[in-house]
Amino acid sequence: MSTTWSNWAGNVHGRPAEVLRPRTAEELAEQVRVTAAAGHRIRPVGSGHSFTPVAAPEDVQLSLEHLTGVLAADRATGRVRVAAGTPLRDLNVALELLGLAMPNLGDIDAQTLAGALSTGTHGTGAALPGLTGAIAGLRLVSPDGTDRWIDRSDPELFGAARLGLGALGIITEFELACLPAYRLRAVERPDSLDAVLPRIQEHFDAHRHFEMYWFPGTRRVQTKANDLVADEVQEPLATWRRLLDDEFLSNVVFGAVNEVVATVPRLALPFNSVSARALSARSYTGPSHEVFCTPRRVRFVESEYAVPREAVADVITDLAAWVERRREPIPFPVEVRVAAPDDIWLSTGYERANAYVAVHQYRKGDHRAYFAAFEEIVAAHAGRPHWGKLHTLDAERLAELYPRHGDFVAVRDRLDPDRVLTNDYLGRVLGE
Ligand SMILES: Cc1cc2nc3c(=O)[nH]c(=O)nc-3n(C[C@H](O)[C@H](O)[C@H](O)COP(=O)(O)OP(=O)(O)OC[C@H]3O[C@@H](n4cnc5c(N)ncnc54)[C@H](O)[C@@H]3O)c2cc1C
Repeated sequence: MSTTWSNWAGNVHGRPAEVLRPRTAEELAEQVRVTAAAGHRIRPVGSGHSFTPVAAPEDVQLSLEHLTGVLAADRATGRVRVAAGTPLRDLNVALELLGLAMPNLGDIDAQTLAGALSTGTHGTGAALPGLTGAIAGLRLVSPDGTDRWIDRSDPELFGAARLGLGALGIITEFELACLPAYRLRAVERPDSLDAVLPRIQEHFDAHRHFEMYWFPGTRRVQTKANDLVADEVQEPLATWRRLLDDEFLSNVVFGAVNEVVATVPRLALPFNSVSARALSARSYTGPSHEVFCTPRRVRFVESEYAVPREAVADVITDLAAWVERRREPIPFPVEVRVAAPDDIWLSTGYERANAYVAVHQYRKGDHRAYFAAFEEIVAAHAGRPHWGKLHTLDAERLAELYPRHGDFVAVRDRLDPDRVLTNDYLGRVLGE
């Protein structure tokens, strides 16, 4: 029976002919083999938090909702085996109970582990790669039903499969290299773009995690620096403050403002000025995952590119000049982060230290001119797009930006010669 599916942002829809929900990895391998042999295409899906149609089902959808949980853990080495469908928020709690933690996280925890890793989800931290950097091994089922364990002993498959866009096989399990649980102190403060941007490289290097939010149409920013703090230091955010800032102001008021701006776009710039001024400084400590992740209830669309980190000031300067010129209604801040290089073939961080610049627009707003101008600006700096966030690049351009793109496609040809694991988006970014 056909059913409907849409992603979190509501900009991608699909009507899968069937949804497979295997209960074990063995059942999954058999279902994949039989479905592929019958000539169907299969699209694995996580929690649908990608803005691109990377997870869009065009024939059979495969959900890993029953393949969840920690399967084994060695607290001494930090190695943990986790079922691929586990939501990050459940993983974080399970790791905390084991006295462990992910080395880094992004800003939400609603994604599944497989979904987050398959698109190269990252957080911020000059010495830390994206979340894929934590993968020590993975179990991959290819369309012919072959079930393999892949780790560093096979550099080719390990280079390709850690960030595979769901194009090489279905991942059923990961082995993660985790850290002993750690606590962070977050220091958030309003500042001016003119003070922070010229020194942003110093800020990146001075903290375990540093990010900056710039309010388009203003010269105001909010910075957030997270650093390790001793376990004894317990200075949590007061509940009223968390509810006021992270729920009421960031979600309830922000949602209402976006509704107004969607109707009267010219109010975006005055609102940005007011929101930027309304932000205040705060500092608190907490377990790492609680400091990294906050709830995001106001739905938006997003584009994000990685540029060489030394290019970030030029990108923001050019974007600010464009917003100034056009006076476009953009009620969302621009997010700036940083990450260390890695050796994963399709990673934005492949052999390059990057800064990430992310632009957002309310789901009812018009993002087209803004995102197009942004893409033009980052193109001048060999910007590599986040695979899960809106971009317009095709396989030809991506092959220029990702040096191992051709090698990835060769592995795809070997593991999925009949293109069982594809959809229109993958055809565009990898080739048919
Ligand atoms: C509010 C919000 C905040 C975000 N914050 C960040 C952030 O801080 N940093 C960042 O980098 N990104 C961020 N993202 C993007 C998000 O992390 C990625 O798009 C991620 O892929 C979403 O995970 P998912 O579980 O929803 O996967 P989906 O979007 O459902 O799927 C993503 C990909 O994974 C594949 N896949 C799923 N399961 C499997 C499997 N078992 N085997 C093989 N392939 C599989 C799918 O086929 C698809 O190609 C954010 C997105 C939103 C909506």
